[in-house]
Amino acid sequence: MARKRTLERDLEFFGFGIHSGKPVDLRLIPSDSGEIVFRRSDLKNSEFRLSLENIKTKNCTMLVTDQGKIQTLEHLLAVLWVYGIDSLTIELNQEEIPSMDGSALHFARAVQRAGLRELPEEKNLQKITQSLIIQEEEASISVDPDAELRITYQIEYEHPSIKKQELSVVVNPKNFKKEIDSSLKLGFIEDVPTLQKQGLALGGSYNNTVVLDKTRVVNGPLRYPDEFVRHKILDLIGDLSLLGNPVTGHFIAKKAGHDLHLRVVRFLLENPEYLSPDDNR
Ligand SMILES: [Zn+2]
Repeated sequence: MARKRTLERDLEFFGFGIHSGKPVDLRLIPSDSGEIVFRRSDLKNSEFRLSLENIKTKNCTMLVTDQGKIQTLEHLLAVLWVYGIDSLTIELNQEEIPSMDGSALHFARAVQRAGLRELPEEKNLQKITQSLIIQEEEASISVDPDAELRITYQIEYEHPSIKKQELSVVVNPKNFKKEIDSSLKLGFIEDVPTLQKQGLALGGSYNNTVVLDKTRVVNGPLRYPDEFVRHKILDLIGDLSLLGNPVTGHFIAKKAGHDLHLRVVRFLLENPEYLSPDDNR
C-alpha cells in the first residue's frame, strides 16, 4: 500500500523561462491537500489545478486557463512523479517554470535533499491492462502491460551528432538519477529565428540547451553520448505524470513529441478499459 507524499520542507528556485526569457521565482510548498496546485503570485494568487483539460502544448507542456498560463511544466512534473510527490503547492511569480540548466537536475537534487513526508491518504495505483498503439505519420507510441513502469524511446535525425538513438529504462528514482535527470534539451541554431518569431526560445542559451549547427554540437561536451534520447524520456515522464497516479506499463515511443505524448495520456484517461486500478501492489 502506498501513501500520498509531499515535501518535508519548502524549496526555492530562481531562474529564467526558456521560452519567455523572463526571470522567475519558484517555490515548492508542502501541502496536505492530496493534489498538485499551481499558484501565480503575480496574478493575485490565482490557482491553477493540474488537470488534463487545461493542458496545451507549444514546444513545451503548459497549463492554460481563463486566468493565464504556466508553461514548461514537464521537467518539474517528471521529478515530482518519479519521487511520488502528489501533494504540493507550486508558487511562481511569472508565466513559466524556470529552465535552470535545461535539465531536471536542480529540481531532482533539491527534492532529494528536502526529503519526503507521507500523508494519511492512499495513492490510487494504476496499471495498463491491454496493448494499444497511437500513430501520427512516422511517429508512434505503443503501450503494453508490464510489471513496472518502463519507457523505451527511439529517435532518428539526419544530423551526424544525433543519428539513431534508443534507450529503455525502468522508471524509478535510482534509474532517474543515474540515466535521465541531468540530460539536456537540444536545439538547432537554424530553428532559433522561427521560434523567436513565435515568442519561443527567448531564454534559450548555451547555458540551458545543447546547441547544434548543421554538422556538430556547438557547446559540448555532452553529459551522455546519447543525451538527446535521454531528454526525450525525461519529457515523456513529465507528460505521463498527467495520468495522475502511479502507473505500470511499457511505453514505447518512436520519433514522438509532446503532442503525441499527451494524445496517449488523453486516450488512457478516456478509455478506462486500458488503464485500471491496480489493487495488487
Ligand atoms: Zn524537455
